[in-house]
Amino acid sequence: MARPVLLTVDDDPEVLRAIERDLRRKYANDFRVLRAESGVAGLEILRELKVRNSVVALFLIDQRMPGMSGVEFLAQAIQLYPDAKRVLLTAYADTDAAIAAINEAGVNHYLIKPWHPPEENLYPVLDELLEDWQSSFPPQFEGIRVLGNRWSPASHNIKDFLARNHVPYQWLDVETSGTDAEVREVVALLVEQEKKNLPLVILPNGLRLSEPTIAELAEQVGLKTRATQTFYDLAIVGGGPAGLAAAVYGASEGLRTVMVEREAPGGQAGMSSRIENYLGFPSGLTGGDLARRAVVQARRFGVEIVSAEATEVRLDGPYRFLKLANGEELSCHALLVATGVQWRKLSAPGVERLTGAGIYYGAAMTEAMSTTGEDVYVVGGANSAGQAAMYFSKYARRVVMLVRGSSLGASMSQYLIDQLKATPNVQIEFNSSVVEAHGDNHLEAISVHCTVTNEINRVPANSLFIMIGAAPNTDWLGNLVERDERGFIFSGPLLMRDGKRPKGWTLDRDPALLETNVPGIFVVGDVRHGSVKRVASGVGEGSVAISFVHQYLSKVV
Ligand SMILES: Cc1cc2nc3c(=O)[nH]c(=O)nc-3n(C[C@H](O)[C@H](O)[C@H](O)COP(=O)(O)OP(=O)(O)OC[C@H]3O[C@@H](n4cnc5c(N)ncnc54)[C@H](O)[C@@H]3O)c2cc1C
Repeated sequence: MARPVLLTVDDDPEVLRAIERDLRRKYANDFRVLRAESGVAGLEILRELKVRNSVVALFLIDQRMPGMSGVEFLAQAIQLYPDAKRVLLTAYADTDAAIAAINEAGVNHYLIKPWHPPEENLYPVLDELLEDWQSSFPPQFEGIRVLGNRWSPASHNIKDFLARNHVPYQWLDVETSGTDAEVREVVALLVEQEKKNLPLVILPNGLRLSEPTIAELAEQVGLKTRATQTFYDLAIVGGGPAGLAAAVYGASEGLRTVMVEREAPGGQAGMSSRIENYLGFPSGLTGGDLARRAVVQARRFGVEIVSAEATEVRLDGPYRFLKLANGEELSCHALLVATGVQWRKLSAPGVERLTGAGIYYGAAMTEAMSTTGEDVYVVGGANSAGQAAMYFSKYARRVVMLVRGSSLGASMSQYLIDQLKATPNVQIEFNSSVVEAHGDNHLEAISVHCTVTNEINRVPANSLFIMIGAAPNTDWLGNLVERDERGFIFSGPLLMRDGKRPKGWTLDRDPALLETNVPGIFVVGDVRHGSVKRVASGVGEGSVAISFVHQYLSKVV
């Protein structure tokens, strides 16, 4: 594949040469560096690149240029290359304009001139943006292919698993074989049995997996499904923000750390199409990006990430044994439960049967492309539903939010309410709930009950995304740790009853702030009783818990 382009535009020839020199020095092996002395000349280059089917990864553009400002140039450039990352070069006096441009032109970053030394002020910023770009940009395809039917739950699960684990794949919908020559060619190569047993995953080494389980797939795409050691200082169950933070802090402070995750690192946050309130990311970032960065960080410190489900814990003296769904067992001194929450199921006739075939829990970003030009229904009135509606509004003809309450104020952040109101193809229906889903092989219509008129309307629908709150993942812990009536785990002072320590407690101290009623078993994030359900609080708890783990280990080891 031809190298993607980095385009820089500046009207000052000397500055332009300096940027070009710095860009070439670091990126010449992987990218083509092109330059232009004006916005008009820059656009000319872009049109030419488009005709040749070349790819642009990043724009580095001066804001203050005669004729066309940097922001004006970007507004036109992103029509041609919407996925390219955008960096604005500004003088100190122009920072207000640059901050405004974060919204106007979707600028990812602004750099204040001069940027010397580039090692400190230029390359780290560009490295991160280019990494993000590379992870989301589908290059000319050479990897895994998934052949299946859009309405098949099994196909959806495979796509979702690969996407959330950042394994690139190409989706081939058999239903399009009439119109898509590539799909037709692949289908023609299959044996009859394979055609009958879709989905089929075709690996780059030629291996073909018919209807693979997630565990088989994980193994084949190179995810680690077994722990390499039998004993760890710290085992973490759950790889959401809380588990990942604990993993990074634990391993960076010298603990032999394993993190067991049954789906994909990132947890719920990994499903978020845009997290706008996480400190340090003024223009927001996708949950996928956050998860990918955290995984890189965890791996760098030596965290072992195992793709498996924890199904049981048992105690033996100072050892905690964790049983995995694949039958393996690993042991540790400290165990940290960070299993978060999962979507509450919508109970209405037809919903369960059609889940994965037009009905999805969560934003199911893997399905967004398939909704292009269609009507999409989103059930829920909290932030996650709002984010999903904003995300789908980029693809769908119309997004209808079905909200049970009579307003959004109590459940959704104001910034999201403002965004929804300003998006013309998003429509919010209050006092509405889905009471039935219809369709034979896939969703074809839903019945919506309005509590004000008490009427039930049946409307055609192909896609329904449900986000109606969440319940904790704690059944697998059996009776070992104390929970509230909804299943959230108690910790620290909440375990003390009438000044007494929990039953069976063996240490001569009270349970630590994030410790459960079992010494050495800690709990962090959304699964903890009383937690604040936010990315930042999960990350905070995950990192703080490590100091309690150290305290505990100093007495048992
Ligand atoms: C769509 C969406 C958008 C959101 N947007 C925002 C936002 O903009 N800002 C914000 O602050 N918060 C947001 N949140 C909330 C935020 O994502 C959560 O508060 C946060 O992810 C909680 O982190 P956690 O690590 O506690 O749990 P989770 O993120 O729930 O992660 C738990 C992990 O544990 C794994 N797991 C569960 N059981 C097992 C088991 N038995 N074995 C192995 N693994 C297991 C799960 O697969 C999961 O990956 C959003 C949530 C959603 C769903």
